[in-house]
Amino acid sequence: MSSITFRGVTKRYGDVTAVSDLDLEIADNEFMVLLGPSGCGKTTALRMIAGLESITEGELSIGDRVVNNVEPQNRDIAMVFQSYALYPHMTVRRNIESPLRADRSKRLSKGDRDARVAEAAGILGLEDYLDRKPAALSGGQRQRVALGRAIVRRPQAFLMDEPLSNLDAKLRTQTRAELVQLHTDLATTFVYVTHDQVEAMTMATRVAIMNDGRLQQAGTPREVYEDPANLFVARFIGSPPMNTIDGQVVVAQDGTTGVVAGDQLIPSTNAPAGSAGRKVVAGIRPEHLVPHPDGTITGKVTGTEWLGHERQLLSHVPIGDSNSVQVISRADPDGDDPRPGEQMRFAVDPDRVHLFDADSGARMRRTDS
Ligand code: ATP
Repeated sequence: MSSITFRGVTKRYGDVTAVSDLDLEIADNEFMVLLGPSGCGKTTALRMIAGLESITEGELSIGDRVVNNVEPQNRDIAMVFQSYALYPHMTVRRNIESPLRADRSKRLSKGDRDARVAEAAGILGLEDYLDRKPAALSGGQRQRVALGRAIVRRPQAFLMDEPLSNLDAKLRTQTRAELVQLHTDLATTFVYVTHDQVEAMTMATRVAIMNDGRLQQAGTPREVYEDPANLFVARFIGSPPMNTIDGQVVVAQDGTTGVVAGDQLIPSTNAPAGSAGRKVVAGIRPEHLVPHPDGTITGKVTGTEWLGHERQLLSHVPIGDSNSVQVISRADPDGDDPRPGEQMRFAVDPDRVHLFDADSGARMRRTDS
């Protein structure tokens, strides 16, 4: 069993609360990504699993065992860091083998060690590099050696702290796919820390989004995208980000609901009963804000970005009291670009307009009372 469970875990450094009352269950074999902005506590959470940070309050279990007071070397997990931390004077072979030589308690024979190194090198495509030193490897290859060093230990779980951040964009994309494959091949729990939502969305079986030391939401990439628990998650996930417009809930005579912001009407079926007049933030994904002659949202186009597969229209939408918000709409790449300054109308699918409480940022639902 390699599930990992946080129960009410808090970590304080003096006055700083790095992780606050964290409840999170990472299932056996999951690829869990801890995601959030710099300083949100994700690395601290990972380091607590590794045993590199003590726990101030709460309980952390690996499998059925509470590990609060278990030494790192007795937790049977392997950590891969951003700075690969390879031994420069050792060959790739020796680097990969190093944890097996260090762990005298397991006393593997030389034959067994060689077999494990060969297996890891095979999985990672490093067979041809085993006799090189790290200085003679590319960044991507060094990163794979760091992974190899973790794989030979056959740990219950792999912990990874931003392992791709030193790679260039193309190699990062390739390595993302390799890590997903590795996770499938090893059938082991992965916990992966990043601030890059694209990494999280492409690799994770579930994403745990943190902010200010607190867990905001844990769910599949699809759940956090389509059903964000609050405004923070809604804005953090998605590129380009979700459009957000401050307004008030209105209920028309025929019972249809929406949000007004100045002269704009944003239809939404997600207003809870009895919420008329409530201050809310309407959230609309760029792909759900569609140029349409009958649309109820009017804006002035300020720019167009043509990306080949789609076109992004940037517009200013006035929302009263001489305020305006900039919105991004994803449009068909074919057709003519609107002129800058042109007035455009946008339509939305009322089911897809998310509503968030203006004060708490919590997601509001039709079924809320
Ligand atoms: P980053 O992506 O920048 O690494 P993070 O989300 O991983 O950020 P943490 O490194 O977990 O964030 O830090 C969370 C908070 O705890 C931050 O405010 C940080 O300054 C603080 N912190 C982390 N380690 C220590 C420490 N040893 N002593 C004091 N404060 C610390």
